[in-house]
Amino acid sequence: VTPNHPDVLIIGGGPVGLGLACELGWRGVRCTVVDETRHDYNLPDSRINLANTRTLEFFRRWGFEREVRGCQFPSDFPMSIAFVTSLRGKLIGKLDYPSMGAAGEHSASPTNRQRIPQPWLDPIMRRAAAGFDSVDLRWHTRFVSLEQDADGVTATIERLEDASKETLRARYLAACDGARSSVREQLGIKLLGDQFIGMTHSIYFKSSEMWKLHDKGKAAMMMFLDEKGLWGVLNVVDGSATWRLSIVGGKEFVPADQVDAPTVLRRMMGGDFTFEIIGVYPWVRRAVVAEHFVNGRCFLVGDSAHQLTPTGGFGMNTGLGESVDLGWKLDAVLRGWGGDTLLTSYEAERQPIAQRNVREATANAKRLMSLPTFPWIDQPGLLAGFKRKILGRRFAESTRAEWESDGVVLGYRYDPSPICIPDGKPPMPDNPARYVPSARPGSRAPHAWIAPGKSTLDLFGQGFVLLDFAAANADVAALEEAAQTVGLPLRREAIANADIARLYECKLVLVRPDGHVAWRCDELDHDPAQIVDVIRGAGGLK
Ligand SMILES: Cc1cc2nc3c(=O)[nH]c(=O)nc-3n(C[C@H](O)[C@H](O)[C@H](O)COP(=O)(O)OP(=O)(O)OC[C@H]3O[C@@H](n4cnc5c(N)ncnc54)[C@H](O)[C@@H]3O)c2cc1C
Repeated sequence: VTPNHPDVLIIGGGPVGLGLACELGWRGVRCTVVDETRHDYNLPDSRINLANTRTLEFFRRWGFEREVRGCQFPSDFPMSIAFVTSLRGKLIGKLDYPSMGAAGEHSASPTNRQRIPQPWLDPIMRRAAAGFDSVDLRWHTRFVSLEQDADGVTATIERLEDASKETLRARYLAACDGARSSVREQLGIKLLGDQFIGMTHSIYFKSSEMWKLHDKGKAAMMMFLDEKGLWGVLNVVDGSATWRLSIVGGKEFVPADQVDAPTVLRRMMGGDFTFEIIGVYPWVRRAVVAEHFVNGRCFLVGDSAHQLTPTGGFGMNTGLGESVDLGWKLDAVLRGWGGDTLLTSYEAERQPIAQRNVREATANAKRLMSLPTFPWIDQPGLLAGFKRKILGRRFAESTRAEWESDGVVLGYRYDPSPICIPDGKPPMPDNPARYVPSARPGSRAPHAWIAPGKSTLDLFGQGFVLLDFAAANADVAALEEAAQTVGLPLRREAIANADIARLYECKLVLVRPDGHVAWRCDELDHDPAQIVDVIRGAGGLK
């Protein structure tokens, strides 16, 4: 490894930059990550609480799924959502969801989502990235500027320890430097969308076993409403003593010191209780997507490319999807078998997914913020209680999309994509709530168990995989030969299982390194050399 000449320079070692480092490290690509924070820095605010099912599939690929799923978050903590006037006040409605322990495995995935606070997740990801030989992590180092030419990118970085500057030369640069990305700014890429949906303050506090102080029980989230509407959301952080209360604000920026946190916490409880405030952190809900994800040899990934409101928990998860899409493409081009348009297909595939996830997250936020409410919401008496019950049911139904989003999480597909070959079948309806497994080109290849503990998903990753549901035939040999000619790594996997064959619908299914289907058919419908050229970004179908 030549430390000052990595193949890929990653600016930002947040979850998305580390995810890209893991993907590249797992492939043996030499990359350097620079981050201005120290190696043991822990965010004071645990923004991320949920790693979704697709993210856990990536963690499985990179080797730390078990560590994440085995984190200390109590597996018997119910994931329910409650609507209340205060913790000691009235219950308006509730959506009961099982704890992660009781929910068990996902029927469409070899793993499942995991509640994990960011101060637990960050160190796991840092250790994992550091464990790959080809990954060089540089903490306490700030990106300053960049220049790019036909062969690479030259970046100036500054070691914050002694303010010394250094120049790194890389073939490609990935901007994983978050919402305020200075790389994006230097490249002059605009963000399109709504820069200010609403102001929020997160109050982080400690109160041990708070559920014993009221009668509403344990819930992953509690929504607080008064006669004007939703004013606060309480999130469980570590499942025992740490909590986050987010105060829903208006259209103006309000600094943290204008929030009287103790008074707000007592309002949330509906009386006094013992707590310790960790901090108050203001943030703004946005709905923006960068106009371009690719600029020459530079790529925007994660929050530098899009920012969405956390309603649904899609932020990091969307960014990690980008890390995996970009990771294998960079690898392919660096190894020489990726074609001229493979890297630009990153934008063609991922920008529409970002736009879709931003749309869903914004719709979730708007539904929550416009919950109808009434002057009797907190009143005693039978009639008010009866009306609350009806309202509670409406709340539960109208916000269900935020908690049930498997369609967003697993059902995203690259359609159209310049590097997938359509099979002429109509697309399934795009339902954000429900995931319907499909092996239609562009979709995530569906999960099925092929042996105890071994999923179809475990077959994918290091190269293309040709799933062969019929006995090997001349078509397979022709494809293998075409792949070999251009150096595209292709492995045939014979699967003699009628259920999985039905799920995949065709005799031959070609799956990309990121686990998405590139092409499928019953018998060769195109020239094999052409198929190989399309999927590696080196040409279109004639
Ligand atoms: C209240 C809240 C709750 C959320 N909950 C969830 C959730 O449950 N699930 C989920 O998926 N998402 C959630 N999100 C979104 C999530 O926090 C972001 O999407 C995610 O952090 C984006 O990761 P990133 O690596 O792209 O950016 P960041 O996490 O912002 O990381 C960027 C990194 O770049 C570094 N950096 C920046 N500039 C420079 C520079 N010039 N030089 C060197 N380093 C630099 C920073 O130090 C930082 O480490 C939530 C967000 C909020 C606000």
